[in-house]
Amino acid sequence: MMNNKDLLKDVESFGKMTQRKLKQVFKIRDRSIEKQICSWCEGNAHNFKDKLSEEEYLIGGLCQQCQDQVFIEEEENKNLHVRNGGLLQ
Ligand SMILES: [Zn+2]
Repeated sequence: MMNNKDLLKDVESFGKMTQRKLKQVFKIRDRSIEKQICSWCEGNAHNFKDKLSEEEYLIGGLCQQCQDQVFIEEEENKNLHVRNGGLLQ
């Protein structure tokens, strides 16, 4: 059986792994922005519908299409919370 110490070690190594992964993610994002492509689908990221989406691209490296998908999913998650009476929050 696991005790708290083991669990904390797990959390620690998970944190280190996450940091490494995050660095990779940022590196890929920076490279994608340099080439003006999407860091998710690798498609062209030249056209954005508004200034906000353009700024979002500089933060997340996602093209307009991928941004739209992410936001639709967020909307669906919100609806799910409502359907479950906020239990998932
Ligand atoms: Zn994309």
